[in-house]
Amino acid sequence: MKTKTFRYGIHPEERKELSKDKPVVPIEAGEFVRIPLSQHIGAPAEAVVKAGDKVKAGSLVGKAGAIVSANVFSSVSGEVAAIESGETVSGGKCLHVVIKNDFEYSEERLEPLGSPTRENIIGRAREAGIVGMGGAAFPFDVKLSVKNPIQTLLINGSECEPYITADYRLMMDNAEGIVRGVELVAKALNAADTVIGVESNKRDAYEALKKAAGGGIRVELLKTKYPQGGEKQLIYALTRKKVPAGKLPGDIGCIVTNCQTAYALHEAVDFGKPLYERVVTVSGLAVARPGNYFVKTGMTFEELADAAGIRSQYVKAVQGGPMMGISMHSLKPSVTKSSGALLLLTEEEIRGIEPTPCINCARCASVCPMSLMPMKTDALILKDKVVEAKAYHPELCIECGCCAFVCPAKRPLVQSQRLAKKLIKNSGAR
Ligand code: SF4
Ligand code: SF4
Repeated sequence: MKTKTFRYGIHPEERKELSKDKPVVPIEAGEFVRIPLSQHIGAPAEAVVKAGDKVKAGSLVGKAGAIVSANVFSSVSGEVAAIESGETVSGGKCLHVVIKNDFEYSEERLEPLGSPTRENIIGRAREAGIVGMGGAAFPFDVKLSVKNPIQTLLINGSECEPYITADYRLMMDNAEGIVRGVELVAKALNAADTVIGVESNKRDAYEALKKAAGGGIRVELLKTKYPQGGEKQLIYALTRKKVPAGKLPGDIGCIVTNCQTAYALHEAVDFGKPLYERVVTVSGLAVARPGNYFVKTGMTFEELADAAGIRSQYVKAVQGGPMMGISMHSLKPSVTKSSGALLLLTEEEIRGIEPTPCINCARCASVCPMSLMPMKTDALILKDKVVEAKAYHPELCIECGCCAFVCPAKRPLVQSQRLAKKLIKNSGAR
């Protein structure tokens, strides 16, 4: 069967075999959960509880603090112990609602919606605190409220990062729920066409979704290639449309969302369940029992590592995939709504980090899915030539890491693109 794809990109070792066939199992929360009030893009949620308050799993503990923000819910039942500052995955700080678990797991739900209108669906996405679960954590109600007419809704089932299999398991085990969620998203957007894209290394998930969709929604097979799940790359692969520089997918009549987000919308609309737990892959050669775990937000990554077991020394801990994930210096931060994976990687799994001078081989440019010339930006930024670097458009870089992956000199090309973006912005050269 012919697969669809984008130009350039890379084929990193997949390592999905470590966890893909492991069924999702829950990890029980410990005595405390620490729920961050900032788990999304935009303003932090504002605490609506105080120490001593009783809560249930699904009780609102933080209310969206602005239009671009999201409600936050307790993931266990118990008593609020404190509201205090805590460390986030990226090394910053934000307020956390600390809840002492009573281990009773009594639940609070919203009223399920029978036959929801477009407005009902968008309102429920906001009430239930749904954010993009593919990593972006953008408030979903804001995305659904796009003004432009939408021709194509694209559902990202590619899960192109190595190791991660959380979406794959959800597609295999809950294809009907995902399809129902996709129908709700399509209704909210009044989309003329809906298509789910699944990479060819997940053919069984593709078949499961195709069966569940029953012809009502297109399901397409994508070539297994990184970064197939990048928003612009997915749009090009499935529609042959290009998102112009400086524009958003909505500007060309497309919206992309992740399959786990669609599933969360189904649960919020049909069962009244707010978003406070999710599937997380715990993997890497240092993990004793790599697999897919059902995890409550507010649990620490340390608890995940303990549950999955550590069999050998790891040299790097990553939240998310090895290409675009965030390296963590500590496992103390809490799992959030957008935490798709915890990877504990050994020496043999990570590249050496000692860079050597560029040998002008142009391999970085040959794989860049945005057709950039990363070696030029890298060289100019090293010499502090910010204005000259602007000519190579680092602002278009999606930070996918393909260039750094293939670079024989191990140049820190993503960091130099990031730095160039920042310096150009600060200097007003944009
Ligand atoms: S320059 Fe940016 S977009 Fe291009 S390969 Fe490197 S990280 Fe990806
Ligand atoms: S791949 Fe590395 S060595 Fe080759 S041109 Fe790019 S930066 Fe230079």
